[in-house]
Amino acid sequence: MKILVVDHSRVFRALWSRMVLAAGHKPIMAASGAEGLARIEEDDLELVCASITLPDMSGIEFCRQARAKPAGHDLPLILLTTKQDHDIRRTAFEAGATDLHDKTNIRDLFHQAARYGRPVENAHEGHVLYVEDSPTVARVMTRILEGIGLEVAHFSSASAALDAFDEGAWDLVLSDILVEGEISGMGLVSRLRHRFPDKTSLPIVAMSGLDDPNRRAELFRLGVNDFVTKPVLEDEVRARIGNLLANKRLFEEVQSQRQTLYDMAMIDPLTGLRNRNVLAECAARFFAEANQKDMALSLILLDIDHFKQINDSHGHLVGDEVLVGVGELLRTTGRDTDVALRFGGEEFLLLLPERDLFDAHTRAEELRQQLRELKPAGLTITASFGVTSRPCGREVGMNDLFRVADQAVYQAKSEGRDCVVSRTLDAGAEPNEQSPPDDDAPGPGQPTAQPVS
Ligand code: GH3
Ligand code: MG
Ligand code: MG
Ligand code: MG
Repeated sequence: MKILVVDHSRVFRALWSRMVLAAGHKPIMAASGAEGLARIEEDDLELVCASITLPDMSGIEFCRQARAKPAGHDLPLILLTTKQDHDIRRTAFEAGATDLHDKTNIRDLFHQAARYGRPVENAHEGHVLYVEDSPTVARVMTRILEGIGLEVAHFSSASAALDAFDEGAWDLVLSDILVEGEISGMGLVSRLRHRFPDKTSLPIVAMSGLDDPNRRAELFRLGVNDFVTKPVLEDEVRARIGNLLANKRLFEEVQSQRQTLYDMAMIDPLTGLRNRNVLAECAARFFAEANQKDMALSLILLDIDHFKQINDSHGHLVGDEVLVGVGELLRTTGRDTDVALRFGGEEFLLLLPERDLFDAHTRAEELRQQLRELKPAGLTITASFGVTSRPCGREVGMNDLFRVADQAVYQAKSEGRDCVVSRTLDAGAEPNEQSPPDDDAPGPGQPTAQPVS
């Protein structure tokens, strides 16, 4: 950025010069108003900072004359003062100053003033979905947007843009309000916000030649983030769009950090399965739905047999490898709606919505056999399974099912391990009628569906 500083003090100019250079910009110095005005005409400047008292004219007069020059018309022009009051500010703004800054804290002054400079070209990246029915306006806007590094997909009607919306990953929507076709720009905004509630971070900018304050309020209520009047002021459009894209980036960064934190808290890093922190949240949902609609819901608890011996004989890393293998088996088999999580150590838990005790027992038995064949780290491993289900017509919670499944695992261990024990929830109830298929091979996997005795 080329920055012009107009001040009669050599010391002040030297300080500025150093700071401008240190920030990677190019300093241009002038000692008087006349010299400063000449530099505005000669140099392609991006920011002017002028003292309010100059040897040959006041800073206010300098502003007035600078604004009268074509090159100074839309230059950011900061007046530097040691004292500001309402009257001075008003006179300065009337003369065309962009802002006033206190001259005493030079470092802060530099940073504040530098913010007024124009962003470099191609400062952004992203895809813009742009709706405009006037080819002339579309050409101008496309040039402006491409000038700041954006890729533009232009549509002449809102319905064509709506059709294309799903197919692209958009960073910004810019829409004319009065467009030809069945849907207006208003309709487009309303539909986008309604149909894509998860895309609230996507900025939408409305454009119109009709700047009615009431219509504008309606647009903002519909979900528009900013409004640009036609004919467009190039610098203003760039600045507005730049801000919106910067906000979107920031929002996405925060979202991704949030996701990382969530994963760290909820995902077991060894197996990639969710951990028991997830249980409270997802169990609450599953049980509420099952209780409300009186739907089946089952729980399988599995505990690897003699896992300590694997660690002791083969080392902890081999133990880890076994856990990874079991995790993968649980993650990659079963229905999408089932939730498998590492409950702790070598214990895993599955929640099976819409599955009764019979289904859950069958699934546990299938897992028991798959586990025997898995041979993670080349070792034959087995597990003991406890299975239980929500009984029809009764309101139950996670703890009810867990307690019974835990008892069932304990029973499976005591019955020799490598087997599935299913229990109904009601202590003292009749043995579960939903016994697994008759052709199940007898042996350690023989179902032992039993009531709590
Ligand atoms: P049982 O058949 O009665 O379940 O016996 P077990 O040896 O499987 O059960 P026990 O509770 O005695 O031992 C579980 C072991 O699991 C002890 C613990 O060191 C080990 N363990 C827990 N978490 C991990 C882990 O992340 N990695 C490894 N390698 N071992 C773990
Ligand atoms: Mg139009
Ligand atoms: Mg255990
Ligand atoms: Mg164990």
